[in-house]
Amino acid sequence: MRSEKLFNEAKKYLPGGVDSPVRSYKPYPFFATESEGPRIHDVDGNTYLDYCLAYGPLVLGHANPVVMGAVLNQMSKGTAYGVPTEKEIELAREVVDRMPCAEMVRFVSTGTEATMSAIRLARAWSGRKKIIKFEGAYHGAHDYTLVKSGSGAVGLPDSPGVPEDTTKNTILVPFNDEEALVTIFDQMGDEVAAIILEPVMGNVGCIEPQDGFLRFLRDLTTQNSSALIFDEVITGFRLSRGGAQEYYGVKPDLVTMGKILGGGFPMGALAGKKELMEMIAPSGGVYQAGTFNGNPISVTAGLATMELLDDQFYSDLNNKGNQIRSGIQDILDDKSLNYQVAGLVSMFQIYFTEREVRDYADAKTADIDKFSRYFHQLLKEGVFIPPSQFECCFLSTAHSSEDINTTLEAIEKSIARAENI
Ligand SMILES: *Cc1c(COP(=O)(O)O)cnc(C)c1O
Repeated sequence: MRSEKLFNEAKKYLPGGVDSPVRSYKPYPFFATESEGPRIHDVDGNTYLDYCLAYGPLVLGHANPVVMGAVLNQMSKGTAYGVPTEKEIELAREVVDRMPCAEMVRFVSTGTEATMSAIRLARAWSGRKKIIKFEGAYHGAHDYTLVKSGSGAVGLPDSPGVPEDTTKNTILVPFNDEEALVTIFDQMGDEVAAIILEPVMGNVGCIEPQDGFLRFLRDLTTQNSSALIFDEVITGFRLSRGGAQEYYGVKPDLVTMGKILGGGFPMGALAGKKELMEMIAPSGGVYQAGTFNGNPISVTAGLATMELLDDQFYSDLNNKGNQIRSGIQDILDDKSLNYQVAGLVSMFQIYFTEREVRDYADAKTADIDKFSRYFHQLLKEGVFIPPSQFECCFLSTAHSSEDINTTLEAIEKSIARAENI
């Protein structure tokens, strides 16, 4: 197996053989050669229907010809300028038009930078230090939020090397727990700079906010003059044209974006009310900068992508999501298995637990050995999903209804295998 050989070689030069922890799984990850539409190919000649899709960005599938064409055209004109371009205004306008809370935008290179900068901004705006995040939520790999963070690992540890001085200002709360928040705000509401959340938790599987929860957060933060930050790095441009804030009808003060925004290239952004955004340098004093901010290749790919994401696109995506989720539910019903089928629009996951999953603690009751057997059997059947129970599967519009039916057959066999039936 060439992938196995490459992995052994990779481990000599790259810690753990990979460049991001979730990519490593036992016994070794497959090494990709190329991809197109819903498919990804590996060095051993295998082809997989891909529901990982690079962990979120590829909502049009791999190598969309329109996006690739726009990027090739831009590449022939240069790849980085260090001065502004007209396309940055166009993409900013697009974001402002789509995202209800967005009045101004700062483009950065990753989702991590977006949330780090949004938190800095919220702290400067409020003159307070504390931020509230939810258990299992992932907001990138920086120090402020790397506390019981989701994404990939099974244990979701806090990281060595993050000073307590930094995280003592990060307060953890279970998702969907209004009472816990009321208690914290009663005790120290006037110290809370912001609540940051994934409106749909996508880094511990897929957990939706309960009815009224986002509205509750909006009211609570408004009353306490704290900022409400929606981390829409996954949900932005995925749940609807205007992301989760449009889908659920709740407007945060700030939104962070990434993944889909760059159309398959590195990109992130923060956006929000003018009053806050104008505090960012150089119009204000809150420092934020980046060599590749607003990179013309990423901006071009983002613009080309946005043009394809219209209402028709989202209804197609939603239909495909319903097809796979209801297909999985039927399989489980057939086998009298009471596991949880989670997800909405183009997000889905099976939790191997009988408990309803409303927060991280519920998600942790899932049988990860079963999930692992399910994952490996799916690979054998030619279907690639993220290798962890605590990630979310994604659909693209490149997945045809037939692809989904093929996938459902593979899922049926793989569940049987996971159950040893
Ligand atoms: C992926 C992700 C991030 C980090 O984005 P990067 O581009 O990987 O730095 C932040 N927040 C959420 C919700 C994410 O899913």
